[in-house]
Amino acid sequence: MEAIEQAKTLEAKALSEIENSGDEVSLERAFNAYLSKKGQIAGLMSLMKDIPPEDKAIFGQAVNGAKKMIGEAYEAKRKEFEGKALSEKLATEKIDISLPGATLAQGHINPYYQIIDEVSDIFLDMGYEVVEGRDVETDHYNFELLNVPKDHPSRDMQDTFYISDELLLRTQTSAAQAHTMGERKGLSPIRMICPGKAYRRDDDDMTHSHQFAQIEGLVVDKNISIANLKATLDLFVKKMFGEKREIRLRSSYFPFTEPSVEVDVSCFNCGGKGCSMCKGTGWIEILGAGMVNPKVLEMCGYDSKVWSGFAFGVGVERVAILRYGIDDIRRFYQNDARFLKDYIGK
Ligand SMILES: [Zn+2]
Repeated sequence: MEAIEQAKTLEAKALSEIENSGDEVSLERAFNAYLSKKGQIAGLMSLMKDIPPEDKAIFGQAVNGAKKMIGEAYEAKRKEFEGKALSEKLATEKIDISLPGATLAQGHINPYYQIIDEVSDIFLDMGYEVVEGRDVETDHYNFELLNVPKDHPSRDMQDTFYISDELLLRTQTSAAQAHTMGERKGLSPIRMICPGKAYRRDDDDMTHSHQFAQIEGLVVDKNISIANLKATLDLFVKKMFGEKREIRLRSSYFPFTEPSVEVDVSCFNCGGKGCSMCKGTGWIEILGAGMVNPKVLEMCGYDSKVWSGFAFGVGVERVAILRYGIDDIRRFYQNDARFLKDYIGK
């Protein structure tokens, strides 16, 4: 049958072309010529209509057989070319392991958290517990239990963000101390620090931020005196700023404490001689502190005839600014990695 002969001839021609193709381009050309949808094998099927019914099956088998053979030959040749290309690549390409690699910039903890971690470690070593409290507080815990009743003038300095008349963003982390005193029901001693965020209605500038971090501490026990406060803070500044640091107390006023003191540390930049950091005085203001006001003890459930205590508070950003020479408080919150490199990475 002529049509079958035609199929056989086409098969032989295609196989020979594939076998003799010298590169991938001529191989693909052979594929297009024979095996593609418009190729010559597909073209053979158009002869089917002229083939007598009894021969159609034989012709179909011949065409499919040719298609299979050519397809296999094409695949085999394609793999041969691929293998050759890979071996050539392996033979010629070399990796120069002596070239320096691309270095990834090393990250660093934000000084804000670094200071919180360091201060927490110092007080954990002294047997304190760390209580974080909550950012959203009630007026009762944030102000009233800390001896700042409504209409108290010091509320002006601690204006904050109100969620409702009773709910606000805490202006000081000592609100957590009021909670802890309440939970202990006036029965057991307390040694705690509360690090975390606090908020004030401040316009943001280089030295002010509407959000900042504090670490406030509270000790309540029997026979606690201001000597205990002074010894504790003295130990704290030595661990934080160096063994040679000294502190001095100046009288001050906070509603929460009575008496109240501002605590200065001898300048860690000039050692006390006087420099621009300490404004020539040799001392840097670092903390507020005092003996817990007996009224606060009573309001929080502690009998002030039996219990006494001291409290202190330090601004986290202030410590970081002094230690790292940071020029603008807003840089703590701006999420700019260069900040870490500028101040910590050097
Ligand atoms: Zn100084």
